[in-house]
Amino acid sequence: MRTPLIAGNWKMYKTVGEGVELVEALLKGVEVGYVDDRQVLICPPFTALYPLAPLLADSPIALGAQNMYPADQGAFTGEVSPVMLQDIGCQFVILGHSERRQIVGEDDALISQKVTSAMEHGLTPVLCVGETKPQRDAGEAETVTLGQLRAGLGGLAAEQVRDVVIAYEPVWAIGTGVTATPGDAQAMHAAIRGALASHYGQSTADAVRILYGGSVKPDNIDVLMAQPDIDGALVGGASLQAESFLRIVNFQ
Ligand code: PEP
Repeated sequence: MRTPLIAGNWKMYKTVGEGVELVEALLKGVEVGYVDDRQVLICPPFTALYPLAPLLADSPIALGAQNMYPADQGAFTGEVSPVMLQDIGCQFVILGHSERRQIVGEDDALISQKVTSAMEHGLTPVLCVGETKPQRDAGEAETVTLGQLRAGLGGLAAEQVRDVVIAYEPVWAIGTGVTATPGDAQAMHAAIRGALASHYGQSTADAVRILYGGSVKPDNIDVLMAQPDIDGALVGGASLQAESFLRIVNFQ
């Protein structure tokens, strides 16, 4: 069975002090209400990872980064390596987020290198895929999403794929308050699982966790999580406050 994963992407929010405050509130919240049939992950900005790591050690909340560069070290000004992330206790790394594809110009080839490098260093990649609104309107949602999936996983051996986390994030739903309908999200998750099955076999496809992301909130998490191929959520805005994130973590 796939353990559901609720992941918070803090994006470029929270100073260290604000991050500590939020983590303390989350830890208090999971202490009282946490059911350990699910996994919780937070992905703060780089500056907060090191100070937050000791607070999260031996807690039910895992730590992840929002990006990395696919080299161990070197002359890559401004970048952070998977070795550095491992060193401070990160277990996960978000890769290929649409904000990095669109704002920074990351392409499938670079994202694929990052996914492979993360796996080689024992970090679990959360590979984000999803179409824009014009692509959906043109009937290209599935082609685009599955193309990003195939490219992102292209450097991995089949036996590595089962450990990757996929996040389906339709770009038009991110930060907009508009969520995909549970039916549309389920249909794309099923298409992703189907593509994984035809490339890597059914048992790998059945093992991969596929998260939904895009305006996930306390009032829509339960219906999303009721879909058979939705194995969790990647949450942006609603992960920045303890009360809303804890409600999402405690989905029914
Ligand atoms: C995200 O950052 O991946 C995201 C889905 O953001 P939001 O929940 O704010 O739409």
